[in-house]
Amino acid sequence: PVPQRSPEELIALRRRYLNPTLSLSYQEPLKIVRGEGAYLFDQHGQPYLDMVNNVCHVGHCHPKVVAAGAAQMAMLNTNTRYLHDNLVEYALRLTETLPQSLSVVFMTNSGTEANDLALRIARAYTAANDVIVLDHAYHGNSPSMIDLSPYKFNGRGGRGKPAHVQFVPMPDSYRDANAQDADYAESHAAHIDNAINRIHARGEKPAVFYAEAMLGCGGQTVLPPGYLQQAYARVRAAGGVCLADEVQIGFGRDGEYFWSFQSHGVVPDIVTMGKPIGNGHPVGAVVTTPEIAAAFVTGMEYFNTFSGNPVSCAIAMAVLEVIQEEKLQQNALETGAYLQQGLRQLAQQHSLIGDVRGRGLFLGAELVRDRESKVAATAEAKRIVEILKTQQILLSTDGPLDNVLKIKPPVVFQRSHADQFLQALGDALHRL
Ligand code: PMP
Repeated sequence: PVPQRSPEELIALRRRYLNPTLSLSYQEPLKIVRGEGAYLFDQHGQPYLDMVNNVCHVGHCHPKVVAAGAAQMAMLNTNTRYLHDNLVEYALRLTETLPQSLSVVFMTNSGTEANDLALRIARAYTAANDVIVLDHAYHGNSPSMIDLSPYKFNGRGGRGKPAHVQFVPMPDSYRDANAQDADYAESHAAHIDNAINRIHARGEKPAVFYAEAMLGCGGQTVLPPGYLQQAYARVRAAGGVCLADEVQIGFGRDGEYFWSFQSHGVVPDIVTMGKPIGNGHPVGAVVTTPEIAAAFVTGMEYFNTFSGNPVSCAIAMAVLEVIQEEKLQQNALETGAYLQQGLRQLAQQHSLIGDVRGRGLFLGAELVRDRESKVAATAEAKRIVEILKTQQILLSTDGPLDNVLKIKPPVVFQRSHADQFLQALGDALHRL
């Protein structure tokens, strides 16, 4: 058996033996030993309502997902060079959720691997190298993805923008002065033209445009209606392809749509997936069109030892089934609307909440010291996260100014959970 160490001991041993860049949540870190549904439990059996885990999408340790993984693990786990039903069946079921053109699946083990592979595929198809991304975006932890992540390369220990990457301003409907203008989305899409011009000036053309329909690390930011349509048109006209990163927001969290890009009425050329796809088991995927996939057939096999193995596919299939059986997309829509409404009511009483935004169960509350100047209330956001922890609610912050309360609970989140959270948040705001 594994010795059960105290939090202090674990902290000391992590310091000595583990990756020194790993961070811990909270001034006094939690030791979490069990999960169930929307809750995590510490070593004393104390439950915490999890408001921030969009990975354990259908609930922590969902019995059906656990059983599917355990049964397959007891039967077989091997690579994809033998025929197996799980891999093919999963590809069939996954592509059923997508627009018809997106019908070729590459399995990976993480969101980073998916975005990384997608870059290779896009480059093979377009015979181009350069990439356009949104400012503040995060697309993964590999060298190639750090290069595409202003969230990392600008500050946070990064070394700045590489030459082959252009970033455009992130539309920020809360902070942009022209957000109410009729041509707001268009004015932002015009930045894509500038990025394309910069690429042309380098003697290159764009290979791919990466964007989330809602930016997680960008601060739970919802792109304005019409933006992706206009951005996609510009990138395609310049010979590039368009990628929707659904790693954070996919699989029904949007509420209205299974894939959040659908809220923009666009069909991407490539979609990447991760986090919720395996409910915590490491799985990722790239889905693209037959035409683009064919261009990747250059003589070099893409083989990835673990990706698409029978256990991962059994788990991913169970996740899709649970989303359907438990009508979790519908729940994200209804409970998400209820929660967002509650946040808006709190904003009427507390001027600290400058903005409430999001779709489904992907929400953000941006905190400001003053509604006129919109000075970020970063320290206050941190305080609220700590206060809510004392009320057994787990939350975190993000965004360019780290002042956005990030709300993305497992999609089994219920109204009673929303009430508990809103009550506790209201009390915390009073205390501040
Ligand atoms: N894309 C987005 C939008 C993400 O938020 C993340 C992870 N936070 C990734 C990609 C990378 O996924 P992973 O950590 O599974 O490699």
